[in-house]
Amino acid sequence: MVLSAASYISKPGKVLKNRYNFMMNIFKKLFGSPAVLAQTKTAKQEQARQDNIKRINDNTDKLWKFIEEALLFYNEKSCQCAFPRFRQIVSIDCVDTRSSFYASETEGFISIGKKYFTSIKLDSGPEAQNELWTCNKCGSVYAFGWADFSIEVNRTFLKIQELKTTDIGAEPTLPIPLFVGIFGHKFPGKDQLIPVDFETFKNYITALKT
Ligand SMILES: [Zn+2]
Repeated sequence: MVLSAASYISKPGKVLKNRYNFMMNIFKKLFGSPAVLAQTKTAKQEQARQDNIKRINDNTDKLWKFIEEALLFYNEKSCQCAFPRFRQIVSIDCVDTRSSFYASETEGFISIGKKYFTSIKLDSGPEAQNELWTCNKCGSVYAFGWADFSIEVNRTFLKIQELKTTDIGAEPTLPIPLFVGIFGHKFPGKDQLIPVDFETFKNYITALKT
């Protein structure tokens, strides 16, 4: 009889659990416990990994939907350039802290915000891809850069070069609060970036100057 221990632990319910424990005892008698325990641990780890991936995907969907709304909000009031916290988020660059990561919030704001800018490609520059982005509304100019460091990490930034509007958004603070956050190999300290819940991030991004 071939029976996978993993097929039981992935299903909830006391009956299954009891049956699982019963089967575990048989397995222990038949094969000895270390191999079975290792198999159980692997299955649990795999479930935890799957749960984590789902959580990240759900949060990313929520984040990108919010970014769309935040950009509309900025452009109703003025434009994204008038919000220093927008300028802060899009300028997060792992190279500045000698790290290797990308921030979901940075990638999201640049990717979704592209339609509010006119871009021109530059032939040369420090990055793999270099562009100048000009705001369609106020004419502020940003340096856009993109580079890939590895298969998992490629990062984008948008750094202000010439600001042509007056701030109406609240001042940026450190550490920078992020909802979905950073992915990569080498991370900066908690004095630079800090994970927060969705509401905290939303309030941070949309706060006006007092
Ligand atoms: Zn602007």
